[in-house]
Amino acid sequence: MTPSVRLLVAALLAGLSACAAPAATSRREPYARIKTALDAVPAIDTHDHLWPFDRLPGYLETDRGRGMTLAGLWRNSYLTWYAPITPWKPGGTFDEWWAKAKHDFTNVRASSFYRYQLPAFQDLYGVDFDHITDAEARALNDRIFENYRDDRWLRHVILERANIELMFNDPYWARFAFRKSYDFEVIVFNVTTLVKGFHPSEFKSPDDDPYAFAKSEGLDLKTIDDYLVALDRLFLKAKTSQAVCLKTTLAYLRTLRFENVSKERASKAFGRPRAELSAEEIKDFEDFVMWRLVELSARHELPFQIHTGHARIQGSNPMLLVDLIEANPKTKFILFHGGYPWIGETGAIVTRHRNVWIDSVWLPTISFTTAKRAYHEWLEVMPSDRILWGADCNHAEGIYGATEFTRRCLAEVLAEKVEAAQLKEDHAVAIGRQILRENALKLFPSLQGRIKSTR
Ligand SMILES: [Zn+2]
Repeated sequence: MTPSVRLLVAALLAGLSACAAPAATSRREPYARIKTALDAVPAIDTHDHLWPFDRLPGYLETDRGRGMTLAGLWRNSYLTWYAPITPWKPGGTFDEWWAKAKHDFTNVRASSFYRYQLPAFQDLYGVDFDHITDAEARALNDRIFENYRDDRWLRHVILERANIELMFNDPYWARFAFRKSYDFEVIVFNVTTLVKGFHPSEFKSPDDDPYAFAKSEGLDLKTIDDYLVALDRLFLKAKTSQAVCLKTTLAYLRTLRFENVSKERASKAFGRPRAELSAEEIKDFEDFVMWRLVELSARHELPFQIHTGHARIQGSNPMLLVDLIEANPKTKFILFHGGYPWIGETGAIVTRHRNVWIDSVWLPTISFTTAKRAYHEWLEVMPSDRILWGADCNHAEGIYGATEFTRRCLAEVLAEKVEAAQLKEDHAVAIGRQILRENALKLFPSLQGRIKSTR
């Protein structure tokens, strides 16, 4: 939203619409009404990384002891992708850190990776971070430190302020533990590392190790067939632990082009450590296992969330998945992040394949403008029940900011369509409600038993 629009909306919400020019007022009214309606929708957030409260990333040793600080929030935000944030000296004071850190934001004022956190400072703390003074920064830091003394703040912000009813949690820190830390959490089965199961030396932590899991189940992994049995058993455990979907972030590690490799070829890598294998043998094994994971996804009715775009950009175009998608019509594929920057391609894949959904998770945080363009285009080329959203953050303020960014982005797009006479306002609100909530409940029907809200 531009500052002038923001002022106008603020004025409208404050009942001061008479002060604005009549023409501009009527043109902007749909936005205010749609945004208010979307704010009231208890959202189903299909992706976050919310660690157990005592292990949240961002706690620092300060002169007052261990706790969350302004430094912790920024250093664990996406902004660090573009701008290094001054490190916190263990045991150091806020003033010491801020004297340097306040200059870290100079070149990123317009970036979405900076701006998505601002609604949290504005709405939750009443602070305009763009023009924050040293005294305000110190007071903000003190309040953050106090808020994180127990998990009530986290719950308050997520459940009440961000109005999130259920949150999918991707536990990349303990993939096969299937442990829930929060009552609003939905368990996700992260399968990223399973493709490298050719040798036990690939795994470091027992909560992430299919060999440790197999042992606990009394299975001995001597052949690739044994490995496939263990995978099936792991899927059963995920299912009985109430996981509702799979997730992979392989796009950060390799190309999304998965060939349909024969078991015979893939088995050449099995039982051998990485150092003895060629890159081709490793890829063969990974490709083979990915196809099996896709089949297991259908068999166990666990839709497959796949990170696409904005990772290794030379290999994360979602178009690379199309053969895999086409060959597995019973698997429900969810293309994450709208495939940024390939939002048009991602839309085209959904247009052509009924077993594909788009998750706009993280997209407004990457680029608010790209997300607007994406929602605009996607709603024109696919049914509105194929689009989902998620916040993709790891602390209360980031989750609030990303959620608010998404609600604003959607409201702007829907209002623009209403203003252009391309959509009726009641339908616009219904579509926003679908994306924020109802589409997830439809795609993951087991969640129906967990929702309290009928709003
Ligand atoms: Zn994520």
